[in-house]
Amino acid sequence: MRRLHLAPTPQLDDLARAAGELYSRVVVSFWRTVRKKNVWLKPSSMMRWHTSNQLHAHSADAVVQGFYDALKSWRKRRKTDPQAKPPYRRRRYCWVQWKSSAIRVQKGELILSNGRGNASLVVPWPWEAPVRVELGWTGTEYELRAVYSRPAAEPVAEGGVAGADLGEVHLAVVHDGERTTIYNGRELRAKRQYQNKIKAALAAKQSRLKKGSRRWRRLGRSKQKQLRKLENQIRDILHKQTTALVSTLHDRGVQTVVIGDVRNLRKRVDYGPAANQRIHQMVSGRVRQRLGMQAVLQNEAYTSQECPRCGSRHKPRGREYACSACGFRFHRDGVGAVNIRRKYLGRGPVVGAMASPTGVRWQPHRRVRVARDERERIPAL
Ligand SMILES: [Zn+2]
Repeated sequence: MRRLHLAPTPQLDDLARAAGELYSRVVVSFWRTVRKKNVWLKPSSMMRWHTSNQLHAHSADAVVQGFYDALKSWRKRRKTDPQAKPPYRRRRYCWVQWKSSAIRVQKGELILSNGRGNASLVVPWPWEAPVRVELGWTGTEYELRAVYSRPAAEPVAEGGVAGADLGEVHLAVVHDGERTTIYNGRELRAKRQYQNKIKAALAAKQSRLKKGSRRWRRLGRSKQKQLRKLENQIRDILHKQTTALVSTLHDRGVQTVVIGDVRNLRKRVDYGPAANQRIHQMVSGRVRQRLGMQAVLQNEAYTSQECPRCGSRHKPRGREYACSACGFRFHRDGVGAVNIRRKYLGRGPVVGAMASPTGVRWQPHRRVRVARDERERIPAL
């Protein structure tokens, strides 16, 4: 599930109003038929009777179904609560739902189809297509809820799934159910800092010279050259780290890499402008290149704070995450990856002991494919 908040626009208002109008017609027709003919119309008859020009046919059906769901829940409630009221009220506005037939993702945009002759609703969307989308009203703004449900009857196989927490404290921390591996980003961070330092120092030097002068221009060229060199080094590190990471997972038989979905980059380590995003893109790109491997995004809210065993939230202090509620203890940097994986699997608590994380450090001469014995243990992590 992904939530997106949207400020009101005439299009959103029109859609919500069209749904409300349809819902109200259904309410009136349903109870009138009960009163006059003593018949409870079936949802399918109601869907044929009432449609909407503005809404997609399936969206309109969903509104009708919404009324029947309310009816059903009332019939259930009244068994225990004699005060329970049936859905009599009309609605000025109503939520709108799009089913998969009306959902498309194209060029970074989510396109939600509406009734014939009506413009589609288009929202910027860097993610994959959801199976269902709902538009609701929170009281102050619209909320778009995108649902990525897997059929509940088919739980995901636990083996072959690894959670990856990218760019939190380290370049990446990966957890596959047993092992936790930390790829630290020390060299990358150092390069990035050095890059900023060069930028600042040369800009200061250049500002003392006359703009456009020979020395000014020469300094500018030198600055570009140095920055370009660093940029190449950074790209090289990113390439090698992400390839090593994905190769290792592939060798271990991981088929699904669950990546924390970063919408809140502020809390993360800043590896520099766009670098965080690049880490994500490169890892998911590398995963997709591998046969039989896929990358999926998982909402990562609170994943670094939540206790993997009991679900209570704590801000970890020090190197160890220690839950005061249940006593669970683990290396704090691994908690995010454990939780991202656990959330994707829809699993409850993590049970049993987990091995302490192993560290992988980037070495300048590391070859792209990492042999297992090359990985070193860093006990001090
Ligand atoms: Zn706990």
